[in-house]
Amino acid sequence: MEDIPVPQVPNPTPVEAPVIATAQSSAPAPVVPMLCPQCHFVVKPEYYYCPNCGKSLHEAPLSTSIMTQAWIYGFSIVLPIICYLAVSYWPGIKYLLSEDENAKQIGIVACILLAVSSIITFWLAIVWIQQAVQSGVSSVGNLGGY
Ligand SMILES: [Zn+2]
Repeated sequence: MEDIPVPQVPNPTPVEAPVIATAQSSAPAPVVPMLCPQCHFVVKPEYYYCPNCGKSLHEAPLSTSIMTQAWIYGFSIVLPIICYLAVSYWPGIKYLLSEDENAKQIGIVACILLAVSSIITFWLAIVWIQQAVQSGVSSVGNLGGY
């Protein structure tokens, strides 16, 4: 008898495939204890900070409470007003436009100091934003690794 067309391969494979997949994906994650990357203290995955050395394990979720919202919204409203008041009360421009030579010199020095301070503030803001973006990227990478 010729039983050549009998092999029924399609049946076993769909059964095996999901078993292997679930065994690979679910088994190692709970077994391997999570260690602090700094002091190798055993920590729980839900910890935001290592209880031994205090290292930040992953970012705590941002607070969305009413008080936090009020603070953020209030700060957002006040910040430009403070900047406007600071600029409009800055007396340097009056000194710079003054007829008096001494007053004019004071105005020039004030302008130079304002320019230098503005550049430093601008540079610090860029560094701060870059650090914030980098820490955000690295924390996403850490979560993926764990
Ligand atoms: Zn630690």
